[in-house]
Amino acid sequence: MQRLANFIGGEFVAPHSDAYFDDVNPATEEVIAAIPDSDGHDVDDAVAAARAAFPAWSAAPAETRSRLLLKLADLIEANLEELARTESIDNGKSISLARRLDIPRAVANFRFFATAILHQSSEAHHTDRTALNYTLRHPLGVVGLISPWNLPLYLLSWKIAPAIASGNTCVAKPSELTPLTAYRLGELANEAGIPPGVLNIVHGYGAKAGRALTCHDDVAAISFTGGTVTGSAVAANAAPRFKKLSLELGGKNANVVFADADLDDAIATSIRSSFWNQGEICLCGSRIFVERSAYDTFVERFVAATKKLRIGDPLDDATDIGALNSEAHMRKVLGYIELAKEEGGTIAAGGKRVDRNGFFIEPTIVTGLSCDCRVLQEEIFGPVVTITPFDDEREAIAFANSTRYGLSASLWTRDLSRAHRVAAAIEAGTVWVNCWLLRDLRVPFGGMKESGVGREGGFESLNFFTEAKNVCVKL
Ligand code: NAD
Repeated sequence: MQRLANFIGGEFVAPHSDAYFDDVNPATEEVIAAIPDSDGHDVDDAVAAARAAFPAWSAAPAETRSRLLLKLADLIEANLEELARTESIDNGKSISLARRLDIPRAVANFRFFATAILHQSSEAHHTDRTALNYTLRHPLGVVGLISPWNLPLYLLSWKIAPAIASGNTCVAKPSELTPLTAYRLGELANEAGIPPGVLNIVHGYGAKAGRALTCHDDVAAISFTGGTVTGSAVAANAAPRFKKLSLELGGKNANVVFADADLDDAIATSIRSSFWNQGEICLCGSRIFVERSAYDTFVERFVAATKKLRIGDPLDDATDIGALNSEAHMRKVLGYIELAKEEGGTIAAGGKRVDRNGFFIEPTIVTGLSCDCRVLQEEIFGPVVTITPFDDEREAIAFANSTRYGLSASLWTRDLSRAHRVAAAIEAGTVWVNCWLLRDLRVPFGGMKESGVGREGGFESLNFFTEAKNVCVKL
């Protein structure tokens, strides 16, 4: 069995505690690796290594940093099949999705930020012929990056790439549930020639290693992606130390289908936005709202399409639905299915644990619940969606906005004016019209309301990881 180590100063080192905990393959329930149970001492070492690497790395020409990150992207791409397999075994997701989504997007993240830094410019303001103001952007120093388990390498690279591209050094804390591709990333970073200490990876529990990172006085910023409750603990620790803070949190996203939509496209895409990655994508549209005149047809066709999804071994190319990431998470999701029944919902498809080893749940559709039910208010983060009818555009917007979350939404209509009107009215950081999960890495990404604070993506990320300084020269 593989014993993981922390990646500090370019070397793989055991945790100070010499304690480890189990990494479990969620599809087989087998223990596949031992994960370092790191604590504040390991975080101290990683921060010290990052501090030592900062002067040279921040002074390196952008072209040098760019070249090294591009090399890392190439290496991830060259190892795509192995990384997709590793991600599938560690997370439970289907290998076809890891191959198509997770690993290519990690490659794209490194390429995007490696080249973005070659095209940065800063503003200058000529002030009434009396002064010239210009903005300098400096990297922050050592930054802390904390990521969840659902898209392990993809989300970690979304933070590491802009952080180190813009001249910072970093300490990353991947989820304790999916450490394997992050571990491999350390090896690939060495192979790419990234100088020791620029990227450090500390494994372990959030409440121990993660917390130590958010509380560390030498860490200038925390970029966190995870649940809303954890985000609030991270903010509580980071804010009194005046760290820059970016929080990408939970979602309860609306998928609004008007009767004039292209139903073939809306249904096929809604199957993906409901059940891709077992519904464990923060952007999944877990609340489907359908205009009443199309409701019965939509439900009938959506249920039929859901029943065709193939649940099974994540390593089988033909599998659509793999295992949920952990037993605890599976139990939580099953609890919400029971709650849906208690709240008066009808299970139109699925609803049960699959009778096999591993943490598998059937893709589940619930009808008959109103927006104030807990099942429509709380993030379930599994293969469970609700479908609710609405009467008109006003009600569709009210339903979409009826939660404390505001991460993303999709809407389906062929009426151009309505598309723009409703997109503007929905309280979400991203609204997709007649599509889902199309990404342009230049656009701002993040959540409204309790789905987050701050924006990532493109120059938003590069701005987050740098400090703007104004220089005012009297003319
Ligand atoms: P989580 O909040 O439990 O954990 C996220 C990370 O935070 C992990 O690395 C964990 O070890 C660490 N952590 C836990 N407690 C900590 C603490 N006190 N201090 C510092 N770090 C701590 O989330 P999860 O279960 O891993 O992921 C699922 C959640 O992530 C869902 O709510 C999902 O919506 C959200 N998510 C959001 C986005 C987004 O872009 N908004 C993307 C993916 C996932």
